[in-house]
Amino acid sequence: MEIKIERAKTLKQKPDQNNLGFGKYFTDHMFMIDWDQDQGWHDARIVPYGPIPMDPATMVLHYAQETFEGLKAYRNPNGDILLFRPEMNARRMINSNKRICMAELPEEMFVEAVEAIVKYEQDWIPTAPNTSLYIRPVTFATEAGVGVHPAKSYKFVIILSPVGNYYPEGVNPVKIWVEDEFVRAVKGGTGFTKCGGNYAASIAAQVKAEQNGYTQVLWLDGVHRKYVEEVGTMNVMFLINDTVVTAALEGSVLPGVTRDSIIHILKDWGYKVEERDLSIDELMEAGRTGALKEAWGTGTAAVISPIGELCYKGEKVTINGFETGELTQKLYDTLTGIQWGRLEDKYHWTK
Ligand code: PMP
Repeated sequence: MEIKIERAKTLKQKPDQNNLGFGKYFTDHMFMIDWDQDQGWHDARIVPYGPIPMDPATMVLHYAQETFEGLKAYRNPNGDILLFRPEMNARRMINSNKRICMAELPEEMFVEAVEAIVKYEQDWIPTAPNTSLYIRPVTFATEAGVGVHPAKSYKFVIILSPVGNYYPEGVNPVKIWVEDEFVRAVKGGTGFTKCGGNYAASIAAQVKAEQNGYTQVLWLDGVHRKYVEEVGTMNVMFLINDTVVTAALEGSVLPGVTRDSIIHILKDWGYKVEERDLSIDELMEAGRTGALKEAWGTGTAAVISPIGELCYKGEKVTINGFETGELTQKLYDTLTGIQWGRLEDKYHWTK
């Protein structure tokens, strides 16, 4: 793919690496490519980061034909740039775009675009501990017009943000609110995609959890409000006795890259992993009896986030004495070790 480059006239001052937070700063340039019915994907370019002018009738503003991705670039101790399984994000975006009838950027072009913009902005990859460059690709409908139908034109854009820890708590247990009123997704809907609409639908529950003093929401299935699906914007896993249990991928759960990687590592270590329906009653009972040893969320942003407390319909269970569990910590150390290039990449995940 030929990529034209327009360099920014002035470059921004880089933020303090020890106080990056998450998603607050953006780099000097962004990647863009357009799609229309006549030309397909065309006009790949790296341009100065900035506003994208839009007609007020642009379809994404009305009908939310939009999908996004999230992955990270890391610097290893030798100073090389590492990407973690970017082809998984490329494929997931293809599946997302198919579901909401948008043009799909082919896998090779997605990966090439990510590599190109990260390389161009490499001075922005932070090196302080636990920092990385968050990569945010997005596809959206650009056709102007009112009326619900698949748009005739799209834009694919990548922006970059140097980030620190997702949760200010860092790798410390968080308190989770089990949501029994609002739902995130249903089978047959868009739960398996990263379309913006899923996240719009999730905000009310997030606000409710925070009002009750909790960091995140645990989502139950949309039909019975009975089976455990995800926690906030992470997949969720529970160590019950000697078995790790997580929701199966049946349409309402996002197929996380971190989830897939952790399942792989656990099986490699000889753990039993069950991808199955886990009812909230079974989970709370395991919490009461102590069979629930550890619980954690998995996702690109926070990698592994231990769960210290669950609150369901007013009942609270504490997990592992509100301490980070041994397995949770070992998984965090292993995966982040591979991602930052400190440990051998025996699964060939980084590139
Ligand atoms: N579930 C949801 C709803 C998410 O938004 C994310 C973040 N992409 C995840 C799970 C975790 O996915 P990944 O491990 O690919 O970041």
